[in-house]
Amino acid sequence: MEIFDMREFDGHELVVFGHDATPGLRAIIAVHSTARGPAAGGCRMWPYASTAEAVADVLRLSRGMSYKNALAGVPFGGGKAVIIGEAHKAKTPPLLEAFGRFVDSLAGRYITAEDVGTTIADMAHVARATRYVSGLGAAPGRAGGDPGPKTALGVYLGIKAALRFRLGRADLDGVTVAVQGAGGVGYHLCGQLAAEGARLFVADVRRAAVQRVCEQFGARAVAVEDILALDVDVLAPCALGGALNIQSIPRLRARIIAGAANNQLAQGQDGAALQAAGILYAPDYVINAGGIISVSREYHGGATEAQVIADIQAIPVRLTEIFERARRENRTTNAVADEMARERLGRPPRKPHKLVA
Ligand code: NAD
Repeated sequence: MEIFDMREFDGHELVVFGHDATPGLRAIIAVHSTARGPAAGGCRMWPYASTAEAVADVLRLSRGMSYKNALAGVPFGGGKAVIIGEAHKAKTPPLLEAFGRFVDSLAGRYITAEDVGTTIADMAHVARATRYVSGLGAAPGRAGGDPGPKTALGVYLGIKAALRFRLGRADLDGVTVAVQGAGGVGYHLCGQLAAEGARLFVADVRRAAVQRVCEQFGARAVAVEDILALDVDVLAPCALGGALNIQSIPRLRARIIAGAANNQLAQGQDGAALQAAGILYAPDYVINAGGIISVSREYHGGATEAQVIADIQAIPVRLTEIFERARRENRTTNAVADEMARERLGRPPRKPHKLVA
């Protein structure tokens, strides 16, 4: 495996492999940049088909964290960890503690937190072996705890900024929103939108999750295969990544795409297809930064919940700046966001990857 030649490699500062045979730990930590502070990003546990696939994922995700943290204005660089394995089978307290020792070996260059396949409760096990972990929970009124509701708040404010920019709307009364995924973030997002009169359409592979938002917020249930193509003002992808791709984009009828999911665009050039279709896209890592803002305040300590909320209120301001710059320069919003993030990281624009013959 030629890591330096991989398409996902982007001048990463560090890529380390951790192994501990007894609990069965096979993990990789990638530090993309520490230019703005210690590299922070969650730990994903996933049954990768190969080590190469895991390396590609950790490289891509850690670069994404650099961008997210830079544009969120938090004093963190970008990093990520992956543990190779099935979370529901292989995740044990000894494995999580071994992962904590691996994190600790980097002496604070990387700070971990929960991600897909790991939870807040798991981080308590990790914390037995390292202090370089966040997202552990917080006392009432203090910054921190479950990042999901904070992410939802940022997405809700971002949707309002997008509505103002694209449709000239200052309120949510009667605005139609399709929410894909009613989990930790989607549920809270639905609550905030419904409270201001938005009409919600929701799909989730878990029937109970849909039922909950229908009962509590008057949402209408939609089949999973239909949610992306609804004729609505806003589509909010809040499930998994890659929802916007060459198959789905021609079917989209929403005017705005603004949701919580990471890596919504299957490829960077999908942003151009959205632009050509007249759809305003809120770059995912800008609109979904509420969670990392909360994690950052928790990690650095001494902040209140009110300060976290004040920080999150900068998300719609940043998004509007991106929308305006994209319109002025006739570029995609994702390209503008990437460039702004790289400027803050002191990195030159990314060159298209040369294919090796
Ligand atoms: P979650 O796992 O709690 O919720 C995701 C929901 O999506 C689940 O209910 C799941 O059943 C549903 N789902 C999965 N596949 C689906 C499909 N094909 N169609 C419809 N629904 C489907 O996760 P979450 O914490 O709510 O995060 C949602 C997204 O936002 C993820 O992509 C996550 O990476 C991203 N994100 C979350 C945070 C956070 O603070 N939790 C922060 C930034 C980004």
